[in-house]
Amino acid sequence: MLLDCGLHQGGREDEARNSEEFPFDVDSLDAVVISHAHIDHIGRLPLLVKRGYRGPVFTHRATADLARIMLEDSAQLAAADAERHNRRRLREGLPADDAPLYSALDVADTLGLLRGIDYITPTEILPGLTLTLRDAGHILGSASVELRGETPKGPRTLLFSGDLGSKGAPLMNDPVAVPRADLVLLESTYGDRLHRSREATIAELGEVFSQAAVERGNVLIPAFAVGRSQEILYWLARHYDEWQIARWQIYLDSPMAMRVTDVYSRHAGLFDRDGQQRWRSDSNPFQLPNLRLINSVQDSQALNARGGGCIIIAGSGMCNGGRIRHHLRHNLWRDNAHVVFAGYQARGTLGRALVDGAEYVTIFGERIKVNAKRHTIGGLSAHADQNGLTDWYAAIAKHPRVVLVHGEDAPRAALAQRLNERFGCEVKIPTNGQMFDV
Ligand SMILES: [Zn+2]
Repeated sequence: MLLDCGLHQGGREDEARNSEEFPFDVDSLDAVVISHAHIDHIGRLPLLVKRGYRGPVFTHRATADLARIMLEDSAQLAAADAERHNRRRLREGLPADDAPLYSALDVADTLGLLRGIDYITPTEILPGLTLTLRDAGHILGSASVELRGETPKGPRTLLFSGDLGSKGAPLMNDPVAVPRADLVLLESTYGDRLHRSREATIAELGEVFSQAAVERGNVLIPAFAVGRSQEILYWLARHYDEWQIARWQIYLDSPMAMRVTDVYSRHAGLFDRDGQQRWRSDSNPFQLPNLRLINSVQDSQALNARGGGCIIIAGSGMCNGGRIRHHLRHNLWRDNAHVVFAGYQARGTLGRALVDGAEYVTIFGERIKVNAKRHTIGGLSAHADQNGLTDWYAAIAKHPRVVLVHGEDAPRAALAQRLNERFGCEVKIPTNGQMFDV
């Protein structure tokens, strides 16, 4: 069984690892389970298929729908990367040597293997092995994975948290508690941090719109296509009157985010109660009267001349690619412009440089003075903080052994200490390739 099959993300060195051999025999796999559609959890799946995997891939049915968008985009990016690399080599008089990690054809093969299932519907996926998915509250379709099976020592349960959302997040339900397990794999992204309260976060966001309105500037919001873009629209809908959002023109400048939003709409039954009510009412966040969806590059470029009155939501979330770079280029120099950072900004990205207060940045080879005001709103995170992770674990009977995954060293160490102090449980910080007995 394989749990998740994601792309390594980050610097060049990390990304070079994507083409390495898998650390197991692909032919020996019986099944794959995918927790959610973020690319660091599914992005290497087409490579697995390219290398011979033909078995089933179980996941939530909404994740299966999102997977198509994510993987097709990923194949396209891989093709563009390889082409750019090869063109550079040809110009240097060297032969082309780079092939994309996988192709659109591999993606099509992969999509054919997906088996969408529902939350809390125990499904026998292999003889004697039952899979149950529970809502992890992180993005649409995100799940915690419970695998219960017979072992020589009797029945055993392996529980994988997937990425856990934070309580009270827009549209999403709170992560669902799991009653029992013998071994837990727990994510630890924010294992060393506490988010600001939802109220303080929302007040902060509202303040940005008031200030920008007074200054008659634009508000740029770099946002990932899955989750964050939809959440931002939700906040704008929810505080439409209070923040006087009607005086703005809102642009969602991301064809991918639009496709994702369609999938969100198709699965609106998975939203939390407030999200569902809003969905059915005339304050549907995806149909705000002043929201315009921008598809073509020409329409996107037309926004460059607008000096104020626009809220522009565009990818990528860390500003290292995508249309947001054009908008930043045309707005950062303006002192009445505002940039709202709503998600994690990795080291080495343009987003991180801006958050860290860079006075000048280089975009498309052009040096640009940063006069715009920058706002980092950490409380909008799609990940549970230390309290959220601890609370989720607390619900599991008898506090079983826990292995911390999906986090850097500092958050893993902090979370390990917290869990051990509070529950006296055995906490493992694994190294690559380490084995654990369920
Ligand atoms: Zn995720």
